[in-house]
Amino acid sequence: MSLVSLLPEVRQFLERKHGFYIDGRHQPPNGKERIDVTNPANSQVITNIAEADAEDVERCVRSSRKAFEGSWANTSPDERGAFLLRLADLFIKHREELAQLESLQSGKLIQMSRGFEVDMAIRFLRYYAGWATKITGETIQPSLPSMNGERYTAFTRRDPIGVVVGIIPWNFSILIAVWKFASALTTGCTSIIKPSEYTPLTMLRIAELASEAGLPDGVLNVVTGGGKVGASLIAHPGTDKVSFTGSVPTGISIGKSALEAKLTRVTLELGGKNAVGFLPDIDIDRAVAGIIEAGFINQGQICAAGERFYLPRAHMDDILAALSKKLTTFVPGDPFDEQAALGPLANRQHFEKVTGFFDRARQEGDQIICGGKAFERPGYYVEPTLIRATTPQAALLQEETFGPIGTFLAYDDEEELVSLMNNSDFGLSASLWTDNLSKAMRMVPRIRAGTVWVNMHTLLDPAVPFGGIRSSGLGREFGSAFINDYTELKSVIVRY
Ligand code: NAD
Repeated sequence: MSLVSLLPEVRQFLERKHGFYIDGRHQPPNGKERIDVTNPANSQVITNIAEADAEDVERCVRSSRKAFEGSWANTSPDERGAFLLRLADLFIKHREELAQLESLQSGKLIQMSRGFEVDMAIRFLRYYAGWATKITGETIQPSLPSMNGERYTAFTRRDPIGVVVGIIPWNFSILIAVWKFASALTTGCTSIIKPSEYTPLTMLRIAELASEAGLPDGVLNVVTGGGKVGASLIAHPGTDKVSFTGSVPTGISIGKSALEAKLTRVTLELGGKNAVGFLPDIDIDRAVAGIIEAGFINQGQICAAGERFYLPRAHMDDILAALSKKLTTFVPGDPFDEQAALGPLANRQHFEKVTGFFDRARQEGDQIICGGKAFERPGYYVEPTLIRATTPQAALLQEETFGPIGTFLAYDDEEELVSLMNNSDFGLSASLWTDNLSKAMRMVPRIRAGTVWVNMHTLLDPAVPFGGIRSSGLGREFGSAFINDYTELKSVIVRY
């Protein structure tokens, strides 16, 4: 094992006394409360951050509002796009630094932090940059007849919503923050990011890079702290929209408080219990590779990851045997080891939740095929786990674990497969695996999920809209769909 060495700039960053990033510079907090940031690979505290109080929130919102009505309103779409491209270039320059900060705070394997966080964020920044110059309304011929020979014409504009609060979970601290602030900035909104209290460091550094890329002061502000800080940003009369990614209970509470605030606009990207269905023609090797792709990347801590796996009854035992064998190669390792295959879960609270699911499975009489316990080593490592349930209502087939746990149920015919895949309150994503594309395409409209993959799982492309139905959320990110959520449609009617 050879570990990647910590960059001196990462070490220096950790030694700083962190405040907030407001108005183009670091500002000390007004409040005294601090929150420890822990490395989940060894449970050691690596630094601490400030918890914003009401006065900090006030200062932040005031700055964002001023920038929205001033400098950013006066910035052309071309300049907005160019800024995001320059930021993407700075991500390339600081790739390793950002990746190391991410691996330290979340336990993400360093190769994942580089490839799935920083490199993907660069692609999303470039994609959103392109939209800045392409947001348009339409011209409309009004329909009513003219009374006195006057004429009418009408057109629509897409006006930026205003100050957008982005509230970020801990599983992808860079990428999800980029989705939020790039959507806001490209449409002419300003952005306040409230990162997760578990993974706040990357965003504090990204805000500095944004200033280095030439972003006017106040266009991208960052305040840190727990849920209370997020709630007070949403309740503040100076914010116009919240874009939240996180769990269902927090999302519902945010949705309620946003509507109560003053019909503050809201996009909710929430959890899932994503179904993966293999049709009878699938062979064992493809099924094993597909299940790992769907359910075990980043220790299952991906909102779109597969958690419910439905296999034809005749193939179940063979596939589970081959998969258990394959999972023995997932040896836990240090996130800074480039060869490591399995990292820790991202924080203690989540570790306790996931290990609690092992107990639930045992209590409910599910069969644990492999795994089912924590590794005996420092940090929050748990074994990749396969569980065979006996009933579709099993807790492990209904509740989001967000961990490296695949739960399996056998089916007998394809009608039953569709009904099992839809047997959930969630509707974020699903996948179907078969060589029979004709069959798959006929099943796609019947699967209740915001994204359905065929012969793949988990790939998010900036050009393809993403979001959940049912309890998995409201609104869409990416593609052209995000524009609806970050702009208000204004109609203009002219008499001449
Ligand atoms: P969480 O809901 O606990 O917290 C998310 C964020 O919300 C954090 O920044 C937290 O401080 C903040 N928060 C908590 N209470 C709040 C409140 N009352 N008001 C305002 N903000 C509040 O989620 P988590 O544990 O950080 O992330 C894991 C969850 O996120 C999983 O359920 C996962 O499925 C979901 N997720 C969804 C997507 C998606 O795109 N649909 C992507 C990633 C993660």
